[in-house]
Amino acid sequence: MNHRLTPDEIYFKLYQMFPHAEAELVHNNAYELSIAVMLSAQTTDIAVNKVTPALFEKFPSVYELALSSPQEIETYIKTLGLYRNKAKSMFNFAHEVIGNFNGEIPNTREELMTLSGIGRKSANVILSVIFNVPAIAVDTHVERVSKRLRLAYQNDSVLKVEQKLMRKFRKEYWNKLHHLLIFFGRYHCKSQAPLCETCPFTSFCYYYKHL
Ligand code: SF4
Repeated sequence: MNHRLTPDEIYFKLYQMFPHAEAELVHNNAYELSIAVMLSAQTTDIAVNKVTPALFEKFPSVYELALSSPQEIETYIKTLGLYRNKAKSMFNFAHEVIGNFNGEIPNTREELMTLSGIGRKSANVILSVIFNVPAIAVDTHVERVSKRLRLAYQNDSVLKVEQKLMRKFRKEYWNKLHHLLIFFGRYHCKSQAPLCETCPFTSFCYYYKHL
């Protein structure tokens, strides 16, 4: 049977599964989340959370970061992939935040995306988690799950997936939805071994149908 659930039904089922879904990158403010998001590219949140305590102790704000050097920053993030590029981005980011935004992390997508190391996905995470602005960040989990749940077509771009999710779900659900889809993708609908036998979405799942 191909019984498709409405977006509202999907939202509430996900909510029941993961009522406590939230950002797993440890942070205390907009600066720390911006850096953590930047570091999380092609790396797990767990790996990022291991390096950030020492990193933020040494560089508690953009000012300490700007007075450092990419080489010094590298020593704190060496265990992460792409650490050289990330250190450079962090250094430039700090100077840009100080020079263009008086040292404050900006709160619009357009401004955030002018900063080194911050793309659309990262900007959406910062907007929704820190500034409570409705936004849906599409990472690898959100993209995979959205396509399996037929909320987007298999060959849709990341931007297209984001636009479709925004169209299908109520705006007041967006910020929680982003975390729900990540948790569902990370802990249930995993990339390689999804837990289909205990999934409420088998009746219309694209992946399950093609198993
Ligand atoms: S049926 Fe399997 S692949 Fe489909 S959404 Fe559920 S866990 Fe994911």
